[in-house]
Amino acid sequence: MSVRAGREFLAIPGPTTVPDEVLRAMHRPAVDIYSGPLLALTDGLLRDVARVFGTKGRAYIYIANGHGAWEATLTNVLSKGDKILVLESGRFAIGWGDNARRMGVEVEVLKGDMRRAVRPAEVEARLKADKGGTIKAVLVAQIDTASGVVNDIAAIGQAMRAAGHDALLMVDAVASLGCMPFEMDKWGVDVAMSGSQKGLMAPPGLGFVAANDRAREVHKKAGLRTPYWDWTDREGDLHYQKYAGTPPEHLLFGLRQALDMLFEEGLENVYQRHRLLAEATRRAVGIWAEGQAIGFNIIEPSERCDTVTTVQLNGYDPETLRAYCNQKCGVIIGHGIGDLSGKGFRVAHMGHVNAPMMLGTLSVIEIGLGALGIPHAKGGAQAAIDWLADQVKP
Ligand SMILES: *Cc1c(COP(=O)(O)O)cnc(C)c1O
Repeated sequence: MSVRAGREFLAIPGPTTVPDEVLRAMHRPAVDIYSGPLLALTDGLLRDVARVFGTKGRAYIYIANGHGAWEATLTNVLSKGDKILVLESGRFAIGWGDNARRMGVEVEVLKGDMRRAVRPAEVEARLKADKGGTIKAVLVAQIDTASGVVNDIAAIGQAMRAAGHDALLMVDAVASLGCMPFEMDKWGVDVAMSGSQKGLMAPPGLGFVAANDRAREVHKKAGLRTPYWDWTDREGDLHYQKYAGTPPEHLLFGLRQALDMLFEEGLENVYQRHRLLAEATRRAVGIWAEGQAIGFNIIEPSERCDTVTTVQLNGYDPETLRAYCNQKCGVIIGHGIGDLSGKGFRVAHMGHVNAPMMLGTLSVIEIGLGALGIPHAKGGAQAAIDWLADQVKP
């Protein structure tokens, strides 16, 4: 017996649910790439991507996923033998740094762990000790999708200035852009990157990079530049150059629709919606945790992010729970990755999500916990309902 017919809920931290409006916007014939509406579409998208990043700097759109956008950032500002500092708080900044290492960059990891945010004071101390200024860039993820942590990018930027160090601050905003504030210029971020398939509600396939003037100055001397990723090439006047070849037309139509939907809702409301649905999830997990088998991965409540909740499951197989939720009830929750592989699960509340989707997802997890006999206190879904009833006023 299953109750999974109907629309499947994809509650994994990317790709996220693509709105029907976005799917429809892509369902159209290809258009000319040398003239006509595509040219204005590109100009508008570059402007609006920069707007979402919070920068007056330049934006670049790549046909790539997040890993591609990582490579775009690295090749444009670094040279072989340069040294960078990677701030650990999960898996993703580490992965970005690993790619840099494979490109001939010397990588130092500022030790952190899977259960907490980066500590800005430690960044400041490390940079102060770098008297010769050998560190060329600092890499950090705003939200790490493996651990479920949110890092305070403003405070990290402040720490770098307090250290009097001029390394570039480079931020991975794949799991946060369009879900929570990102203020590239205000926070002193020099290079930021993201992807289309998470908070930005579009299909996978577009990578975004933003760079300020300082980064574009460093770019002029970067030795790792390659034709496809190169910012200078993409700043050329010809529309064709902006994508280093044929534009990903249909993804661009979809992205336009997704951005229009975000702006129409209002970014402040979008961010607040994420906060409320994330907290509803945390209320549920907090109740379940009373049964001792379940717990938050991120120890400090204020460091838990608003796009994904990473949950530890002690003594029980999370894959059994994931399979139950999927096969019996039509909800796909994320598996644990990195240190949490086989030891936890992740619930995404990212992008095109609303109250019924999250309450449905949380209810299904609670059904699964009950059906599988995993110890938990009952009433997690009810706690999420109570939270939303208290916050979302008539
Ligand atoms: C998903 C994700 C990535 C990688 O994106 P891909 O599109 O899968 O290459 C990088 N960083 C963070 C924080 C992510 O969540």
